[in-house]
Amino acid sequence: MRIKYYGSRGSLPTPGKSTIKYGGNTTCLSIQVNGKQIIVDGGSGLRVLGTELMQKELKQGKGEVVFFWSHFHWDHIMGFPFFVPNFIPGNKIIHYGSKRVKEILKRQQDFITFPVEFDKMPSEQVFNTILKSEPVRIGKLTVTHCQSNHPAGGFIFKFTHQGKSMVFATDTEHPETGMDQDLLRLSQGADVLIYDAQYTPGEYQQGRKGWGHSTWEKGVEMAKAAGVKRLHLYHHDQTHSDAFLEKKILEPARRAFGKTFLAREGWEFQI
Ligand SMILES: [Zn+2]
Ligand SMILES: [Zn+2]
Repeated sequence: MRIKYYGSRGSLPTPGKSTIKYGGNTTCLSIQVNGKQIIVDGGSGLRVLGTELMQKELKQGKGEVVFFWSHFHWDHIMGFPFFVPNFIPGNKIIHYGSKRVKEILKRQQDFITFPVEFDKMPSEQVFNTILKSEPVRIGKLTVTHCQSNHPAGGFIFKFTHQGKSMVFATDTEHPETGMDQDLLRLSQGADVLIYDAQYTPGEYQQGRKGWGHSTWEKGVEMAKAAGVKRLHLYHHDQTHSDAFLEKKILEPARRAFGKTFLAREGWEFQI
């Protein structure tokens, strides 16, 4: 699997000098595996990915991409109307998510909020509902999931291919006591755990409980308990500069778990 971050920011795009290193675009991840193009969430980073994908089949209207939607907060869907392959007749855009994916993407592209309505896009849009405890198979890639702990709910995905796996656990809050046992089971032995570390432990304690996000400390705890090989801290807060992320999040996390990294827009890796 070739995985690339197109957005690592949470909540709101944050362009500017202080966020240039880790990036200002919101949640979007590309997975390329066996010639298939998978996209996890369509935050503002999706615009750049869509432009890069405009080669060969997708440019000619003969391409196919598969989206997995964790949930529908703005920072995870706002890039979809700017995804250029949507506007080429003949392209097939396949969706996996809750049963409300179509309704919510249509609502986002209502004429009053966006000039091109969802149904006016010439590509073919195909919707699939993720069923409880049933894995999705895309060729040799298997996608399993558990539920996130987040306002209005959501999915945590695990992508497994030829014995290698990556868990995408963003927009989820740790339980008040103990650990999220479903996530612990899902993450067991994963090569990469991408984890919501929006807040420092101190910030979390100051009025952010119940907002559906977690901390580097809980990410480290999960990574150790699940025996994951690498931990990627993700969904950086819109108020955190590059310097803050390195000093207040990466440094203490790395002291506790050496194989910790900050997710960075444009970073590509293979597992
Ligand atoms: Zn988010
Ligand atoms: Zn969210």
